[in-house]
Amino acid sequence: MSELGTATRPLRVAIVGSGPSGFYAAEALFKSKHTVEVDLYDRLPTPFGLVRGGVAPDHPKIKNVTRVYEKVASKNDGFAFLGNVTVGRDITVDELRRHYDAVLFSCGAESDRKLGIPGEDLPGSYTATEFVGWYNGHPDYRQREFDLSGKVAMVIGQGNVAMDVSRILAKTVDELKSTDIAQFALDALAESNIKDIYVVGRRGPVQAKFTPPEIKEIGELEVTDPVVNPDDLVLSAACKEELEHPDSGHNRKNYDVLKEFSERGDPTKQRRYHLAFMLSPIELRGDGKVEEVVLRKNKLVGEAMNQWSEGTDEIITMPCDIFFRSVGYRGTAMPGVPFEERKGIFPNRDGRVIDGDEVVPGLYTAGWIKRGPSGVIGTNKPDSQATVASLLEDLGALTPCEEPSSDAVRKLLAGRDVRVVSFADWQKIDAAEIAAGERVGKPREKFTTIAEMLAVLD
Ligand code: NAP
Repeated sequence: MSELGTATRPLRVAIVGSGPSGFYAAEALFKSKHTVEVDLYDRLPTPFGLVRGGVAPDHPKIKNVTRVYEKVASKNDGFAFLGNVTVGRDITVDELRRHYDAVLFSCGAESDRKLGIPGEDLPGSYTATEFVGWYNGHPDYRQREFDLSGKVAMVIGQGNVAMDVSRILAKTVDELKSTDIAQFALDALAESNIKDIYVVGRRGPVQAKFTPPEIKEIGELEVTDPVVNPDDLVLSAACKEELEHPDSGHNRKNYDVLKEFSERGDPTKQRRYHLAFMLSPIELRGDGKVEEVVLRKNKLVGEAMNQWSEGTDEIITMPCDIFFRSVGYRGTAMPGVPFEERKGIFPNRDGRVIDGDEVVPGLYTAGWIKRGPSGVIGTNKPDSQATVASLLEDLGALTPCEEPSSDAVRKLLAGRDVRVVSFADWQKIDAAEIAAGERVGKPREKFTTIAEMLAVLD
């Protein structure tokens, strides 16, 4: 038998998940010296993962990264997109292994972490994941309804996802109407009565995870005034040390922005955006829906650069009409792949999936499902390259698959009535969305159901 990765027997890789890490893995495979065939699977008919379904609609420049992914798709003969195929349901991992020499999972972190507090499941308590999916027109979340009739919103967590969620709540329709926000979300936000948005961190201003451009943006909103209590900016010795640390560049910039916010106060603005620190929610209360949040005041313990929050005896109660937790995403398990429940990732060593201590031959992972939900889009490039390096290092030891044929896979899927969406199909959906957007002054009007997407093709 000829060697894997040659013109006579190309290396066949199935990549599961077509977000940034999936495309960067495909790119790294095509850039290698080997001859490869890559089939990139996605459960949706649309590629690009969180670039489409996660990146905020008012951050269009970030989405330009899809041009790089389009090049990967168009410039490599061995590339195919198999959209609208759910691995683990429409085709099993074992079946993939029959047709591919390696399977690389880059299926991201589709679920979210819980706070684990009483009342968390009361109506009016939502996850950032579902709100982000909703305003981005993700088919899984388009049916969600968010009651924006009250005055007070609270977002727990101070990462960039919390920034996105709270900024969308703080913006006017005018600030959002020329973005690719789902129209139903724009209509609902137009009716919002929210006046006060609280964005709550369990640690202090020096430890906040948001990045400087994101916090700066909060100071540039049309009708929303940022509010920071100057007392929260009085720093302990450890926090001062932390702020002066060479690795704290972004925290210093954040702190300067927060300081400037603390000196503002514009009574003419209709909405207020409060940044609150050193507080952890311990209970949500209400009669049939969220009405108030009980929070515990925290103190910081530990050394500079490694300070953690610890609860004190001080408890406060705040009225709240709508509550979001934005405390990090979490991967979900897939049948046929080991799963590390505690971290919500596929356990791996340098991108090689492991079961206990043993490497599972032929299975690899990249992106958030490999390392957890951290970093920006670009972080996934070296991460995927590292996984591909592991895969190529293993090339000589990989067992060639039994039936190296994508036609066989398509036949199997067709036999199960799965309508596979190719990259050319996606381009038709893309063009139809852009045309629909042009009619209403938006970069695109997304289809928000799979049926609508497939209807464009039939
Ligand atoms: P993140 O940056 O890890 O932030 C999570 C936040 O939740 C932190 O403030 C964390 O506080 C807090 N938290 C965690 N557990 C908590 C608990 N039990 N109680 C209270 N607070 C808790 O995660 P993310 O915001 O979901 O973002 C995920 C990644 O995507 C990040 O790398 C982010 O930068 C990136 N992203 C980037 C952009 C952008 O570039 N514009 C936009 C969106 C997302 P501690 O710090 O105390 O743990």
